Amino acid sequence: MKLQTRAVHAGDRKKPDPAIPVTTPIVTASSFAYERIETLDQVFAEEVDGYCYARYDNPTTRGLEELVADLEGGHGALATSSGMTAVLIAVQTALVDRRRSVVAANALYGATIRQLMSVFEPAGIDVRWVDVCDLAAVEAAVAEARPGCVLMETVSNPVLRVGAVDRIAEICRAAGAALVVDNTFATPLLCRPLELGASFSVHSLTKYLAGHGDVLGGVVVCDQAHYPALRALSKITGPNLGPFESYLSMRGIKTFPLRMERQCGNAVKIAAALRAHPNVAKVNYPDDPSHPDADTVRRLFPEGLFGAMISFDLRDGSRARVFEFMNRLKLVVKGTSLGDVHTMTLYPAMSSHRDLAPRQRQRMGIGDGLVRLSVGIEDSADVVADLMQALD
Ligand SMILES: *Cc1c(COP(=O)(O)O)cnc(C)c1O
Repeated sequence: MKLQTRAVHAGDRKKPDPAIPVTTPIVTASSFAYERIETLDQVFAEEVDGYCYARYDNPTTRGLEELVADLEGGHGALATSSGMTAVLIAVQTALVDRRRSVVAANALYGATIRQLMSVFEPAGIDVRWVDVCDLAAVEAAVAEARPGCVLMETVSNPVLRVGAVDRIAEICRAAGAALVVDNTFATPLLCRPLELGASFSVHSLTKYLAGHGDVLGGVVVCDQAHYPALRALSKITGPNLGPFESYLSMRGIKTFPLRMERQCGNAVKIAAALRAHPNVAKVNYPDDPSHPDADTVRRLFPEGLFGAMISFDLRDGSRARVFEFMNRLKLVVKGTSLGDVHTMTLYPAMSSHRDLAPRQRQRMGIGDGLVRLSVGIEDSADVVADLMQALD
């Protein structure tokens, strides 16, 4: 054969090697071929399990999906291009064959609030907001709105309230609504919403699961009942995570439990040091026995694990005072995102909750002196020393 022909055929499409790679390889093929066309026909018909096109399924991404579904105790998963895409497709799947109405937690990730207001509401989906830490309010909102879907976060951003996922799942089940839980802050080490009765658990993979600040991605895990609809919607909308990002995420997840245990342990020590500092007025961290959701924390989280997000109020805090504190930090990274190996800090009034009116922020417990901290895997004494010198 001529060089031009050999250039596109030689070395490719080899028979599978009997040696098994110890980790999942990156498969970049956008389509899959078979010796016999009848086999491809059966794959299209879903009579036999196999790959045909990367928008439907990809071996690297499937490896990641099986891994996260297993950690979350779910039936199956879909890895997506970002956490926001994961929220979008989870809510869309939940609303297939249900009333076009959502009851949403009033404390959610900023972009999730905006997605509900600027994508779902204009599409004719009714959105009602509720305090998910008030079960009577959730019951009343569900009875009144009869929603197709309830959307909440396990641990809220940035004041770290913890919703009773199990009780809310009961309310949803009785009303025929699907419960979608954004489990990004808690991670499957602290909470597995599907085991508590939720229909969907979603993550920004970008945060704790991938964990190294080098990949953007999301994942939706769901129960058996919703899985076919989730895959069907994905096939026609194409939100898939690519094989390179899937590989990076899978590599990150191998050390996720180790990192998260360490981060949680560090956070307990850092929260204690912050509470003891005279220039800190209040610390929000769920290890506090007087935390408003202490009972839920005790019931849902494993003993001694409270997550690795902390927020705290500077005494007499103002924007200028917070900026001064942050500029004095030498080790703690000033930047957006969370869940990385390095400790990071962010000012919610400037970032996630920037678009809200100051009064609205105040109502959510987000004052002008509130600082958010994502605790990393460093030696906690070094992080405490940096925070203390910046606070003094
Ligand atoms: C970051 C985040 C998201 C969005 O994830 P992206 O990967 O940035 O799209 C959604 N929910 C929570 C709780 C998050 O922290």
